[in-house]
Amino acid sequence: MSEYDNISNEIRELAAKLLARGEVDVVIGYKPTALPGRTQPAFAYKPEDAREFVFNPLCVSGLPLYLTKAKPEISAKDRIAIVAKGCDVKNIVALQRENQIRREKIKVIGVVCKGVVGKYGRCDGKTEPKPEDLDEKCRYCDVNTPRDYDYLIGEKIESSPQSKEKEFEEINRIEKLSPRERWKFWEEHFKRCIKCYACSKVCPLCYCNRCIVDKTMPRWIDPSSHARGNLAWNIIRAQHLAGRCTGCGECERSCPMDIPLMLLNKKLERESEELFGYRSGYNPHDPIPLAVFREEDDDEFVR
Ligand code: SF4
Ligand code: SF4
Ligand code: SF4
Repeated sequence: MSEYDNISNEIRELAAKLLARGEVDVVIGYKPTALPGRTQPAFAYKPEDAREFVFNPLCVSGLPLYLTKAKPEISAKDRIAIVAKGCDVKNIVALQRENQIRREKIKVIGVVCKGVVGKYGRCDGKTEPKPEDLDEKCRYCDVNTPRDYDYLIGEKIESSPQSKEKEFEEINRIEKLSPRERWKFWEEHFKRCIKCYACSKVCPLCYCNRCIVDKTMPRWIDPSSHARGNLAWNIIRAQHLAGRCTGCGECERSCPMDIPLMLLNKKLERESEELFGYRSGYNPHDPIPLAVFREEDDDEFVR
């Protein structure tokens, strides 16, 4: 029996127990799909539903989306249990920090995670992905053992992320370009955007009931796909996540046009850490930079 079979069995047993005891109304987890090499979100309402749960490196999608906007019939439940990798727990912490969820109504089934398969990687779901098949975010993961949980499944492991220098190599390269070259770089990428908004639909922290793109009076963002409107949309999306993004990578994974959204997200994440010492998703009690006034804040951008 593989390590992942053991983890899957433990999740099934725990989920069935929580449901049988009436401690939760629903458990959110993963199940296989008819297509090999994929899993999909699954919802157990009765102990027997939990039999279909699995956990392996194909469990890529971020489930915290179901705590807020993805399925109102799920998020409306009073007591929810959710299977969560370390990066998913960061999104749960960020949602808690922004008062979008009540942590006491959620039971987090944290799972120790050694990495998931990348967008174009391959994996049989029984063994760990080869290094070249691993998702980019997993190379720099510092939360293989989730930082917050009610139950922990799997043996705790120490994270050993690749260096920050490596993580920000491409961002550093782009920063060294001239403003004209940088403009060209992003123009080339953003002109491919088809305004499908998948990037915001999958982002657990993009939770406004009415997004700025839906507003028509005044209309802030042109809904058609052309260079100027695309630029506005992509900049606004990134700015709205500034200091809030946890780096889960779901937006970039979902982009059908392979726009490197994580370069922008990570640039803003680094700014937030350097300027305000704030990292989203690590501590539900840290003050949020955008909600705090400090006299010593660097206001260079308004000069
Ligand atoms: S970022 Fe970490 S917790 Fe998330 S999938 Fe990768 S290894 Fe697992
Ligand atoms: S990485 Fe993308 S999807 Fe994840 S929190 Fe940041 S902006 Fe949202
Ligand atoms: S997912 Fe990609 S193509 Fe779709 S709106 Fe976002 S950036 Fe544009």
